[in-house]
Amino acid sequence: MSSRDAILIVNAGSSSVKFQVFGIGTAGEPVRLIKGQVDGIGTRPRLRASDSDGAVLIDRMSTVADIPDVPAALHAAGDWLRQQHGINPVAVGHRVVHGGPEYDKAVLIDADVIARLEKYVPLAPLHQPNNLAPIRTIGERFPGLAQVACFDTAFHRAHDALADHFALPEHLHDEGVRRYGFHGLSYEFIASRLPAVAPDIATGRVIVAHLGSGASMCALSNGRSIESTMGFTALDGLPMGTRPGHLDPGVILYLIGQQGMSVAGVQEMLYHDCGLKGLSGISNDVRELEASTDPRAQFALEYFAYRISLCAGMLCAALGGLDAFVFTAGIGENSAGVRARTVARLKWLGVELDSAANASHALRISRPESRCPVYVIPTDEELMIARHTMTLIADRDVSDPALARS
Ligand code: AMP
Repeated sequence: MSSRDAILIVNAGSSSVKFQVFGIGTAGEPVRLIKGQVDGIGTRPRLRASDSDGAVLIDRMSTVADIPDVPAALHAAGDWLRQQHGINPVAVGHRVVHGGPEYDKAVLIDADVIARLEKYVPLAPLHQPNNLAPIRTIGERFPGLAQVACFDTAFHRAHDALADHFALPEHLHDEGVRRYGFHGLSYEFIASRLPAVAPDIATGRVIVAHLGSGASMCALSNGRSIESTMGFTALDGLPMGTRPGHLDPGVILYLIGQQGMSVAGVQEMLYHDCGLKGLSGISNDVRELEASTDPRAQFALEYFAYRISLCAGMLCAALGGLDAFVFTAGIGENSAGVRARTVARLKWLGVELDSAANASHALRISRPESRCPVYVIPTDEELMIARHTMTLIADRDVSDPALARS
């Protein structure tokens, strides 16, 4: 592969950096070549990567002295890609959680964009700084390299004012306290798949349930997001692995005012101790809950399905009806049990589950006579980032004759 063809995708968290390398296929579509991550940053750093068939290419532990932080992890992964695979990417696409009120699509990064994204740190203090760190690191080391920011919020930015507002004093909305919605790259990918895998419903009213360790649902009308269960932060909406989802704000006031919890303590609890983990007292992982005979595990799973069905009712109201329901992400793609529990609660929509199709994780898991079809469609947020990155660097090359010649 020539270095001209490689695009690096970076998804950085506080203690891990996930990366993927894409080449460009004959039809101009990004083609995944390498998938890897450095995790345990600052504790037990470990660089792992595999090729597109899942064959392990590297699994190497490092010392904290060698990889103390995210920039060092990026250097380690970048050096390995360059030295072992001759990959010098032509562009880097980053997952960035927050594009604030203004970014409704991916953007080529420059100093002005970085300054704007810095402004959104208070809107996503746990995630945005981790997303921006690699952008700065790569910019310093490779100043000419094109970098693209792809936002979890962008796909939802066309929401109507009714969907974008909390019923708070308007100045807070002006200051950015809005219902942004997240998992936008996943929903955008699913919307892009519908014409190929389910053309009958691609232009219709579709609910997509992104059920992973983070979980939300999106109402798609003609492939566009019109409503989401997530709001200002990734805490709202559905219960998740360790987050509670929809919560009466009075509970927060009670915890701080009556129980004397600090804001930091409440934040820690809401992000790490609630959801399936808090309810079951056993695990945040659906696989473990499904394997458990403990009634608390079964209660947590049933609660999850119940809340999905309640949110489905809400999104049906936003859409004015429903033409299809789609499951995606780690739980949605793999847990026949969660899908069966959920669909059982959506019978009022005219949904009939095909148990055999559900058990085999088929594309369509509803019976032919089901009034509303139900699909399982694997998501691919990184591919979506690669597509945006390719589009933006192609536009840049066309608009800059000097670059086009280089
Ligand atoms: P994600 O964040 O999309 O990678 O989803 C991760 C979650 O998917 C895990 O925490 C599990 O709860 C769930 N998951 C992954 N594989 C399975 C499986 N085979 N069966 C049930 N749940 C699964």
